[in-house]
Amino acid sequence: MKLLIKDVLLKNVVTDILVEGNKVSHIGEIEDTNSIDKIIDGHRKAAIPTFINGHTHSAMTLFRGYADDMSLEHWLQEKIWPNEANLTDEFVYWGSRLACLEMIKSGTTLFHDMYWHIPATVQAVEDSGIRAVLSTVLMNTAGKKQGEALKAEAQHMIRQKLNSRIRLSIAPHAIYTVDAELLQWAKSFADAHNILLHIHLSETKTEVENSKKNFGYTPVEYLHSLGVLGANTVAAHCVWLTDRDIELLSAARAKVIYNPNSNLKLASGFNFRYKDLKKADVLIGLGTDGCSSSNNLDMVEAMKMASLLSKVVHDDPTAMPVKETFDLATKNSAEIFNLPLGEIKEGNLADICLVDLQRPDMTPCHHLLSNIIYSSNGSCIDTVICDGQIIMENRKVKDEELILEKASESAMKLFYE
Ligand SMILES: [Zn+2]
Repeated sequence: MKLLIKDVLLKNVVTDILVEGNKVSHIGEIEDTNSIDKIIDGHRKAAIPTFINGHTHSAMTLFRGYADDMSLEHWLQEKIWPNEANLTDEFVYWGSRLACLEMIKSGTTLFHDMYWHIPATVQAVEDSGIRAVLSTVLMNTAGKKQGEALKAEAQHMIRQKLNSRIRLSIAPHAIYTVDAELLQWAKSFADAHNILLHIHLSETKTEVENSKKNFGYTPVEYLHSLGVLGANTVAAHCVWLTDRDIELLSAARAKVIYNPNSNLKLASGFNFRYKDLKKADVLIGLGTDGCSSSNNLDMVEAMKMASLLSKVVHDDPTAMPVKETFDLATKNSAEIFNLPLGEIKEGNLADICLVDLQRPDMTPCHHLLSNIIYSSNGSCIDTVICDGQIIMENRKVKDEELILEKASESAMKLFYE
């Protein structure tokens, strides 16, 4: 399939983008359009790379608005975990389809997920046409048996042949839900299979205080002491870091995912040390976290929040300028997930958003990225291409009505039947 985006704004220049198969094959004017299968008129549109959501729990879309205004500990123990026990493959499938739909409609084509019933999410991602790195979850709060069963599930999943758009990672949930032995098992599993290790880390003050009390270390020091911290660690949150923690993350070449909306809503903390992490050369990505705590999957909103909050935290309006904010959601994350994404260039995978410039919030257009991040939201994305396929055109996504109906139905059954 040959797809041509004609006369589109790309980095301040009006040009053509040719997509062949799943890659960008040429950027520049194309005169002979005879062999082209589909032409998209890029007039009054701008092409940008699609966004990468570095940390979420996709099927938690079903929990959107179900339990707000609570602390993380009470929220998990009273509202989330008891209901998660009743999840089925079908609920997770429709919750994940809803998440994929929401992500497509706001320009995201790759997400890093941590959730239960992983085969259902695999199917949802496959059917939605986007990409994911899906983590099999580890936890042993319910005892050794639970840990063993989840280890077996991870071992089973790693043997499956998956769609080329889907990869796996392993997710020991957090240091307060996974014991030392299982954390170390996760690290050796990640190393053996060359996959990422995805973990919630230093998310709340309580987590840090308990870690010091129980282990004599901060959560980052604790992971380091166990030999778990490494270049394949993707640590979500990292709100409560000490100088020593930052040194350890940097030395290990661990990656950090900033989740500003969730951190604020759960009052986990706002003091994400962006400038200090950047200075220490730690690679930082951006995430929304799950819809039960964020409450949407809009990476444009996450970018705005990340930038505004960093300015206040560092008492410096230059702390996170637009280009850097944009890189968190695109280029940096592509590097974290080791995929040729995050930039529209020849040879890269063809994951492209077209931004609608004919909108009040995009007018005038002195600076495209400024308009997207500070002025607009995910709905400025008009067309989305993933892996060379058009998955949204003029804001229309296949099966949208069916997904909304089935996801609503699933939430009703899960919570009220
Ligand atoms: Zn999370």
